[in-house]
Amino acid sequence: MLPIDQIRKDFPILGRKIYDKYPLVYLDNAATTQKPRQVVEAMADEYYNVNANVHRGVHFLSQQATDLHEASRETVRRFLNARTASEIVFTRGTTESINLVASCFGQAFMKEGDEVILTEVEHHSNIVSWQLLQQRKGIKIRVIPITDDGLIRLDCVEALFNERTKIVSISHVSNVLGTVNPVREVIRIAHAHGVPVLVDGAQSTPHFPVDVQELDCDFFAFSGHKIYGPTGIGVLYGKEQWLDRLPPYMGGGEMIKTVSFERTTFNDLPYKFEAGTPDYVASTGLARALDYVSSIGFDAIEAHEQDLTAYALSRLSEILGMHIYGPTQTIGPDGQPDVSHRDAVISFQVGNIHHLDMGTLLDRLGIAVRTGHHCAEPLMRRLGIEGTCRASFALYNTREEVDALLAAILRIQQMF
Ligand code: PLP
Repeated sequence: MLPIDQIRKDFPILGRKIYDKYPLVYLDNAATTQKPRQVVEAMADEYYNVNANVHRGVHFLSQQATDLHEASRETVRRFLNARTASEIVFTRGTTESINLVASCFGQAFMKEGDEVILTEVEHHSNIVSWQLLQQRKGIKIRVIPITDDGLIRLDCVEALFNERTKIVSISHVSNVLGTVNPVREVIRIAHAHGVPVLVDGAQSTPHFPVDVQELDCDFFAFSGHKIYGPTGIGVLYGKEQWLDRLPPYMGGGEMIKTVSFERTTFNDLPYKFEAGTPDYVASTGLARALDYVSSIGFDAIEAHEQDLTAYALSRLSEILGMHIYGPTQTIGPDGQPDVSHRDAVISFQVGNIHHLDMGTLLDRLGIAVRTGHHCAEPLMRRLGIEGTCRASFALYNTREEVDALLAAILRIQQMF
């Protein structure tokens, strides 16, 4: 059991009064999570007491800031169980990590007519990055279809591979449906064809442990702000043998060894991919966020969030006209709650109440959810809808908040 009351005290924003409603019910965690004091205070402390540019300075503060920054990289390495810290590249977030791979991998290994395999549930960041490469190089995008329930059609994966397939890029967890994709199986199939796989872990890292060596993915991307860390920082993990073979992403300071007007030599990993001053304060914040999650423990976090998701699915299903997208089964064959296909995200639509109206009215009742296409327009098209209302949970949410959501939806339904 999570010590929820204690945990909530770490997040002062959860005590805010919005309109005349108290306390705020924040169910927009898939978009961004709130930050605990431990993260904000560590960052403030670094700005107040340490701040200096990293890597280039001989003076005390610069060395201290560098040590903190590199210690954060080691914390990320441990969090993902990467083999070495040189496989951990700091980026601005999942989007930048995916763009980096699409751009650099595309430049090095793809030519006109070569193919990337995506899925129908991808976030725009894992679609448009490849489309930019498509425009530059004439590559082709192939798509793994899903079932009506939003599950990846594993039976269709094998047939998408051919001699032109160069890479697979797939989300770990759908940000719309919460479905946990069978990335292990996809990686196994891809590797049997000698094809590397990028996993978009934006929605998995906050909810369950990821071991990149065990997964055997070739690249893995995630965002700090979705796992209780600061905005503006994220991670690209890449197997050393791949990162070594990719050209740099951006040019500038930090990523070079020597520069002349005739020739530049590039820095070692991971610095080759980190042009310019990194956000070394945000890396500290990210490390403290990962420490925070680790100190609570994923066993407890998963148990709590799965309980909340199962509870929310069953309570929301009581509402007349409620349509929940994605798999809705909560009880497995053993009679126990089974949300193995679904993480802490629930997308729904109530009767013919427009999702935007629902979201706006929920907001007036003090409940923050997200509405719209959730940066997944192709998935919306597949589901035959324009958008949904999405409630997404974090470790600080409670059953009482689910009850508040339910009561608010019932009230809104009466208004219509
Ligand atoms: N991929 C998925 C599955 C996401 O949910 C998101 C954000 O919602 C992203 C990628 C992009 O993340 P960011 O905006 O932090 O780069």
